[in-house]
Amino acid sequence: MDNKAIYEAYDWSALKEADLKDKIRKILGIIPEDVQTILDIGCGNGVISNVLGKAYKVTAVDRSEKALGFVKTDKVLASADNIPLPNASFDMVFSSEMLEHLPDGVFEKSVAEMKRLTKKYIFITVPNDENPDKLAIRCPSCGFVYNSPNHLRSFKLTDFEKLFPEFNLINSLAFGKKVRHYNKTLLVLKKRISPAQSWIPYYWMPKEKRETICPKCEHQFENPYRFNLLATTTDVANVLLSPKKPYWLFVLMEKK
Ligand SMILES: [Zn+2]
Repeated sequence: MDNKAIYEAYDWSALKEADLKDKIRKILGIIPEDVQTILDIGCGNGVISNVLGKAYKVTAVDRSEKALGFVKTDKVLASADNIPLPNASFDMVFSSEMLEHLPDGVFEKSVAEMKRLTKKYIFITVPNDENPDKLAIRCPSCGFVYNSPNHLRSFKLTDFEKLFPEFNLINSLAFGKKVRHYNKTLLVLKKRISPAQSWIPYYWMPKEKRETICPKCEHQFENPYRFNLLATTTDVANVLLSPKKPYWLFVLMEKK
């Protein structure tokens, strides 16, 4: 998988259970009653798996050895697209904020692994119809444009019907802090008429969160901000066009 070094360099101690309290409570409320075993794919530091592990038999999978160091349940070091476990070994396959990070190829294989490993349910959470270009950064060293949290794709509910035709959608909801969508056409325009330094204002991303590593050339820098009238005007126009909506999309599917 690409960007392994960047993934390993991530501060895995940063994400705490308290940060995801409401989300975890919601997840626990959605898990069907007949579930006993769960496979958590892309568990990161286990912030969710460790809580699930108190009520279920959980196996957590991640490709970062460092991240798995924080995981207290059974764990497997593996990439989501190639998990060395037998077919249909879990009542439910769970995955939270992973699919949006996967590049082409890895993505399709990971979806296939989810289908292969579950006995009955797949439970996925992803950003809710996000426009990843909203947090676009241009690397000053190589010129590559990328999404700050490395989100490579976005999902609507209808995407899951297409990706998982062998499954029925049995529950779905949008949940979490309300964030403003960015109109796609307007964002393309903004990126064309304004310099990259004005794309992400400080009120979207505070100064202490601006340290970034380019996924292409691994150049490490602080993403700057410079006011630009055209960029700000586009942002204001977007407020009129794009409503706020809950940040996450939860999807629960059952094998047909
Ligand atoms: Zn670069």
